[in-house]
Amino acid sequence: MNILNSSLKLKTENVRTLVIKKRRVIPFFNYSEVFSSTEGEFVEIFQDVLRRGAFIQQNDLLEFEQNLAKFLGVKFAFGVANCTDGMIIAMKVIGIKPGDEVIFPSHTFVASAASIHFAGGTPVPVECGPDHLMDPAAIEKAITSKTKAILPVQLNGRTCNMDEIQKIADKHGLRIIEDSAQALGSKFKNRSAGSFGDIAAFSFYPAKTLGCFGDGGAIVTNDEKIAKEILKFRDHGRDEFGEVTGWGLNSRLDNLQAAILNFNLSNYEKTITRRREIAKLYDNYLNNLSELHLPPAPDSHPDHFDIYQNYEVEADRREELREHLDQAGVKSILQWGGKAVHQFENLNLDHQLPITEKMMARSFLLPINTMISDDDVKYICDKIREFYGK
Ligand SMILES: *Cc1c(COP(=O)(O)O)cnc(C)c1O
Repeated sequence: MNILNSSLKLKTENVRTLVIKKRRVIPFFNYSEVFSSTEGEFVEIFQDVLRRGAFIQQNDLLEFEQNLAKFLGVKFAFGVANCTDGMIIAMKVIGIKPGDEVIFPSHTFVASAASIHFAGGTPVPVECGPDHLMDPAAIEKAITSKTKAILPVQLNGRTCNMDEIQKIADKHGLRIIEDSAQALGSKFKNRSAGSFGDIAAFSFYPAKTLGCFGDGGAIVTNDEKIAKEILKFRDHGRDEFGEVTGWGLNSRLDNLQAAILNFNLSNYEKTITRRREIAKLYDNYLNNLSELHLPPAPDSHPDHFDIYQNYEVEADRREELREHLDQAGVKSILQWGGKAVHQFENLNLDHQLPITEKMMARSFLLPINTMISDDDVKYICDKIREFYGK
């Protein structure tokens, strides 16, 4: 009896030590937790939508579109299959044609440039500024007689200085198409990303600040004529009477995804608040390290309201730092695998952008999402300080 007891005691103690010694892991993004953290509510949504047989272009989509337009302060919002499709449709509707040049920041996802390409246009990459967003001064230098539009990318949850970009567009008679995939709820001078240009697109990819359970996107505009064209383009070129008025795509947002997005949008203010809190914590713990260049802190500039889709830092000895973090269980990533669009040789963009190239060689993304705790952030920052011997 005694022997049994003591062996049992030993076993429990072993387990305890194991638990204590278990290495802490902070994933970059926890995809399964997106569902499991709110499973009950989501299952109710599935049952409700699926029992109604409401699969394509039903009320949940209409409701989400109305709520999204209201949230952004725009007249029209339409669900599409994903943001890349949204951008392609935007280019087509704006009238980008073969031979037309569209200026975009090379520090973006390849999809921004692909949308120009698939409309038949020529993507013209330009440099970014210290906040990693399109540098307005670089736009003017890239304008030629063929330039038709500017494609600002509201990157990492921050909106470009749209006054300066609008001024350039007005001066040269250019259209503005915003890639707002990373910036739902981000603002410049109290106006939402997506509400500045002629037309804008958003992404609801699962890891985006407002995500669904698969692919999803939206196009927004304040122009009624453009709105009518979008509606037809996403649905085989058909008008409300079923008449095919031109070539179109099948690029609709599933009604089920729209229902999920509607639910997530109802909690979105909390999501933004939490992301901004985390960014503030990172800034508090790290802003005195000269080895790092951090994103602008929340409220550090009165014109900008950032939602921190990403927390993209530049770091001395980046690869060693990432290895040190990895050993400590902190998973970081290089945005787009570490290359700006013009650096993908097979795309033959044939440009040299030294500022962007230098920035790409130094930058990486720290985890930022609603699943990490204050203590996780402190732990990550402790490990970074430890690496630099601070
Ligand atoms: C995610 C993203 C896209 C593409 O969005 P999808 O919905 O996946 O097509 C486009 N541009 C930027 C900047 C993005 O981050």
